[in-house]
Amino acid sequence: MTTLSNFAKNLAMESGIGRLMDDLGHSIRQADQIMLGGGNPAAIPAVQACFQERLQELASDGSRLGRLLGDYDPPQGNVEFLTAISDLLRKQFKWPVGPENVALTQGSQSAFFALFNIYGGTYSGGQKKRILFPLAPEYIGYCDMGLESGLFTANRPQIDHLDEHIFKYRVDFEHLQLDDSIGAICVSRPTNPTGNVLTDQEVSHLSRLAAERGIPLMLDNAYGMPFPGVVFTEARPIYDDHVIVCMSLSKLGLPATRTGIVVANPQVIRMISHVNAVINLAPSGVGAAIALDLVRSGRILDLSRDVIRPYYLERQQFAVDCLHRTMKGLNYRIHKPEGAFFLWLWLPDLSITTLELYQRLKQRGVIVVPGEYFFPGMDEPWDHKHQCLRINYAQPADKVEKGFQRIADEIKACC
Ligand code: PLP
Repeated sequence: MTTLSNFAKNLAMESGIGRLMDDLGHSIRQADQIMLGGGNPAAIPAVQACFQERLQELASDGSRLGRLLGDYDPPQGNVEFLTAISDLLRKQFKWPVGPENVALTQGSQSAFFALFNIYGGTYSGGQKKRILFPLAPEYIGYCDMGLESGLFTANRPQIDHLDEHIFKYRVDFEHLQLDDSIGAICVSRPTNPTGNVLTDQEVSHLSRLAAERGIPLMLDNAYGMPFPGVVFTEARPIYDDHVIVCMSLSKLGLPATRTGIVVANPQVIRMISHVNAVINLAPSGVGAAIALDLVRSGRILDLSRDVIRPYYLERQQFAVDCLHRTMKGLNYRIHKPEGAFFLWLWLPDLSITTLELYQRLKQRGVIVVPGEYFFPGMDEPWDHKHQCLRINYAQPADKVEKGFQRIADEIKACC
């Protein structure tokens, strides 16, 4: 094979996220596969009706539709939407933000790509800096984003056993390796894959540590407040001059529009806009156009609080009950499901790795995501990395039930 660049080695090869999206994109269209793998949001009828109504309005207005589909937005994103988002955040949370504090990206995934490579990598003085994930496991999609290798480092969690079957990860501040080699800290809250919601104290502590060192704290708010608001505990959203909050319209139900929203100080926003211009010219305005009136009117908050959150809470309660029923007699634990729409299943007695279990489950027609992929920046050996599975419970009840039964049967066969 031709020799290729380091960029090709890091980004153009098969990756965990690539395999996951491939499985997701194919199996979601196969009736016989039970898709408990990807991060696809549920199809919630009331939410979809809202989008349909908005699309019909847009389609019936020729000149607006012409502008939406026929014109490039500025690299920072659609100006009306930037204003609407900053107004909403100012009113809702009293954050001191205006349109100069917001940029759109092609999904929040591409915002992280830009941010990780802005704050991690080789600096002008030659020093290499890394992005610290203070609470592994973390989102699979972060894994392969480095333009340079060794971009990430991660901290093992403290594990609190809340009862026989429920545990919770907490940031182990005592062992946090926060030295000069760290260019930024990043956490997802709610956390993908575990459904953990970092406590207000943990987030404040991380924010203080970042501020003291003059580095940013990135908060990945893909499932968080105020939208889509899939948070089942009390959690105060935070923002500050050194905090970068990344939001998305995906989990609201618009993943195909690829709309990420970065809220940060104007210097960061300018950098994101420059990256947008180079890589995409401009971010797509389709998601922004669909969501604009929902954001302006504040209906997006009602939709999140009254429809989306209760929907996922009901799915979560069903999934937990179903798991306890199907796993009876097995040694299993789950992370306390406090947000997002995943169960993080820990199987301490598993005699094979979860990568192997994933392959076997695929043969049985169930797609899950093996735990191994959720430890970006953690190369050290740790059995726990091979003992966990992420299960998406956003699918209809019959699929979840059938999927869990097959998972339990396979685990019984290999424990
Ligand atoms: N962050 C987290 C925690 C996610 O789970 C996802 C998608 O699943 C993303 C970011 C990226 O989402 P998108 O690029 O669709 O906004």
